[in-house]
Amino acid sequence: GSTVEAASESEETEQRGPVPQGPYLNQMVLLKTPLAPRELLAHCASIERAAGRQRGVRWGPRTLDLDIVRYDELTIAEPDLIVPHPELPRRDFWQRELAELLPYAQSR
Ligand code: AMP
Repeated sequence: GSTVEAASESEETEQRGPVPQGPYLNQMVLLKTPLAPRELLAHCASIERAAGRQRGVRWGPRTLDLDIVRYDELTIAEPDLIVPHPELPRRDFWQRELAELLPYAQSR
């Protein structure tokens, strides 16, 4: 029941974190969804699994990583779900992508 309302340009970024690996391909989408945040998180995990993601080394290479960067104006601070995503202030490419999508969010 979710629809992609807008998508940012995709952008390649160098790996971050402690485990050496190739670059990441990043893209942010504006999603219209009937799912509550926790339901959306569960769906993200099942899409990652369907894409063949194995949870091996923490922060290691992965085929697909889906994050909830923001959810409307909600603030959530639970052990397994933090929104806005705590990495947002440290990932300049996320801030660029968010700035690309915000006009579409505001025009809805
Ligand atoms: P990752 O290794 O980046 O896929 O981390 C996934 C874990 O981070 C999940 O099991 C979530 O419970 C947790 N998590 C906390 N906040 C978020 C968020 N905003 N978006 C996605 N995962 C989150």
